[in-house]
Amino acid sequence: MSLTRAEIRAKLLAEAEQAIDDLLDWTDQTPRPNLTQIENAVLKMRRQLSEQAAQAVIEAQGAQRPVPGPLCPTCQREMHYKDTKAQTVESRVGQLRIVRGYYYCETCQQSLFPPG
Ligand SMILES: [Zn+2]
Repeated sequence: MSLTRAEIRAKLLAEAEQAIDDLLDWTDQTPRPNLTQIENAVLKMRRQLSEQAAQAVIEAQGAQRPVPGPLCPTCQREMHYKDTKAQTVESRVGQLRIVRGYYYCETCQQSLFPPG
């Protein structure tokens, strides 16, 4: 199911508000935090926001199955849609769950799971 830009925006805003509320709750419960504790709390919030933003962008892209399929990075021929699969990816912005089509090149017997 593909969401509209306004729906994605509303979802991200709700998640951002929740992350900010969590930080403020932590602040209330932690009267005299040291700098390391503050860093950890803020980094945790940043990671949450990053994961949610990346997830939203990936889901918006994954909603469309590209026609023609992507080109094989080795032989540059069109790759063919194989199936949809879910994968958990450790990225630079945190852990992402990606559900989308993956592609296969018969010539090179190589598969591709966009965005790579
Ligand atoms: Zn190939």
